Amino acid sequence: MNTIGDLDLNEVLGYVTENVDAVLVVDGIADTYKCVIRRGVFTEYLQESGRYHDLIKKLWFHFNNSSDSVIDDYLVFVPNSGKFIGKYGKRMNIICNDITHVIQLTIYPVKDSVDQYIFIMDELDKSQYLDETFTNNKVDTIQNTYLFSMYVDLMKDTTYSISVTEMSDDVMNQQIKYSEWRETIVNMISTEDQAIFNERTDPEYLKKNLAPGHSSSFDCLMKNLEGKYIWVKLIFCRAETQNDEDFRFVFMVQDIHENYVELMSTLKKYEELASMDPLTSIFNHGRIETEINNAIEMKKKKGTEISLMMLDIDFFKRVNDKYGHSVGDNTLIHFVEVISDFISDYNAVMGRWGGEEFVVIFYDTDISKINDIAEQIRDKVAAELFNRVGNITCSIGVTTIEYTDDLFTAFDRIDKAVYGAKSAGRNCVKTV
Ligand code: GH3
Ligand code: MG
Ligand code: MG
Repeated sequence: MNTIGDLDLNEVLGYVTENVDAVLVVDGIADTYKCVIRRGVFTEYLQESGRYHDLIKKLWFHFNNSSDSVIDDYLVFVPNSGKFIGKYGKRMNIICNDITHVIQLTIYPVKDSVDQYIFIMDELDKSQYLDETFTNNKVDTIQNTYLFSMYVDLMKDTTYSISVTEMSDDVMNQQIKYSEWRETIVNMISTEDQAIFNERTDPEYLKKNLAPGHSSSFDCLMKNLEGKYIWVKLIFCRAETQNDEDFRFVFMVQDIHENYVELMSTLKKYEELASMDPLTSIFNHGRIETEINNAIEMKKKKGTEISLMMLDIDFFKRVNDKYGHSVGDNTLIHFVEVISDFISDYNAVMGRWGGEEFVVIFYDTDISKINDIAEQIRDKVAAELFNRVGNITCSIGVTTIEYTDDLFTAFDRIDKAVYGAKSAGRNCVKTV
């Protein structure tokens, strides 16, 4: 033979005629078919000629991977005679003597609107079929949410049966080296997740951590087909094997974006609830303590000037005693509103330390400024009219976080400062 480019149409057709497994002429109206070519599996699977309707039923009317019939009601989904408009192609499984064969079927209408067709059928390569079955079976479980899947053999450093659901129902035929695939696909993973992707997809990591028949997964942000980052779960499921050296697995990318976003917002709500004081809706003791710890770390790492303020309402017990607990509650809420309003101009957060004691953290605020701020707050509280109660005052202690501080030392100082303000007659500010 000359080079392939020298083949003329007849030679090409001759080659096709010698290799194609089945060619049928079909008449939908007469309800007949006749095999023009019949080779391989089709010598058993098909009669020389027969009824068109039986042929269609045979090709379609069974479960995907078995010869088990589907209940009759599903006949409505089976294309019967005269339903093919234009060229039609499909890869499908047929079962012959209990063995599944993957075939490629192409239907050519002979003339428009006449129910006459030429069916061309080819059995596809066996090894490819095994890969597909493996992939398909895994994929069936979470069919609707997976973006793509493929079958990987680490020993051969290959991937097969790549299937990208949004692009095609069919798997792609090409084999890509796993090592090359990793290098390419990492660009689809968000920058902050690339390190974990590289670690978890590393052949050595997988060999060490993925036992036969087991699966593992992790979540990351990956570009979808439109180039938008979405949350996906990368799943690795290793085939059952007795041989440690046999390392085949299905790799699948599941689209979990919607659920993930929903879950995150729910968790965020829980976190907020867990951090909040129910009466005053500011941070509770646990959360403000965490914020103080974080502030201490910030001081140590970045040297940020951070000041702490503690406010204790004066003679609050009397408010309760005189007006009742619920007026006391409203006074606490009102008190918090006054302080919150004031600190909204500052980079500051406030929490309820407990009872009628509150802590405010002022970021970017050193000792020279905090005293003045505290005086302004004290004035503001003293000038405020509280419903039914009238005027109340508070005692304020302030301190600045030092490099050597921990929660205990910082807190010890601020506690002493408040105590000092109380001892000095209340409604005043003390610094320690
Ligand atoms: P001092 O000026 O020394 O701080 O006097 P005080 O009365 O404010 O201090 P003390 O610690 O003796 O009393 C605090 C009071 O705060 C007692 C308690 O009933 C009240 N209290 C604590 N938590 C709440 C609350 O959630 N609601 C109400 N209504 N009262 C509370
Ligand atoms: Mg107190
Ligand atoms: Mg008090």
